[in-house]
Amino acid sequence: MSEAPPSHMMGLTLPDVASWSERVVVVLGQNPGMFTGPGTNTYIVGTGTERILLDTGDGRPEYLPVLARALEHAGEARIQEIVVTHGHPDHIGGAASLVETYGPRRVSKRPWAELDERHAVRVHPIDDGDVIRCEGATLRAVHTPGHAEDHLCFVLEEEGALFSGDNVLGVGTTVIPPFGGDLGVYMRSLDCLLAENPTLIYPAHGPRIEDGRTKLREYIDHRQEREQQVLEALDCGLSSIEAIVKRVYAAYPEALYSAAAWTVANQLLKLEREGRVSRDGEEPLAARWRPA
Ligand SMILES: [Zn+2]
Repeated sequence: MSEAPPSHMMGLTLPDVASWSERVVVVLGQNPGMFTGPGTNTYIVGTGTERILLDTGDGRPEYLPVLARALEHAGEARIQEIVVTHGHPDHIGGAASLVETYGPRRVSKRPWAELDERHAVRVHPIDDGDVIRCEGATLRAVHTPGHAEDHLCFVLEEEGALFSGDNVLGVGTTVIPPFGGDLGVYMRSLDCLLAENPTLIYPAHGPRIEDGRTKLREYIDHRQEREQQVLEALDCGLSSIEAIVKRVYAAYPEALYSAAAWTVANQLLKLEREGRVSRDGEEPLAARWRPA
């Protein structure tokens, strides 16, 4: 999911199937939309006949023939197993129909008790540091919560590249959802990913990112800059999120203000957890905020 303006995300089209390296074929999940851009990128990873499928789209039937074509294009490859970055429906939603189509396959992800029971597949638990291999590819899991508690990114060791899931996107920036999201935790995850020093990034939405390190630094700088702007607005005596959004996002169209309100709320909740701001009122969006 992304907070990029719909025009950014909607205007972007990517081919249904493309080879992004000798061991990475991207297959679009056929689920374009406001929050998914051109759709979820699913990845066929490896070089042999048995390959890993990373993420599954949201389960719409149009995906199945596109995936079949991609597997054929990859030299009659088969799906050895399925690995999922996190439990949001546009990543794991297709797993059940794939197991139905291709027969029982291991579906690995980091467990998230409240959500996993909703999925129609049994989850094989993996966690930070676990490695999944097929011919020509070694994927190492990196636990990167903040967008979602169960989120795993995967280092592709052979390329020094990174499958970033929803933590870094080819367009726009990551949403920190009210359920399971935490901006402070997300920022620590970005630091963790920067420490991996990735070359390429293969995101879950949007095009391949050629310089992963630069993109990660941009993401970190962008969030820090926003935080500074929010603190400055509070110092100037603004206390409602509405007023802060109007000031910080003055250069943006008003249509984006409701999405921006959540972004500012996330900044304030992070600062509150750090003891730097406080509020009157339970509901973050309606509360009055002030420097602590
Ligand atoms: Zn997500």
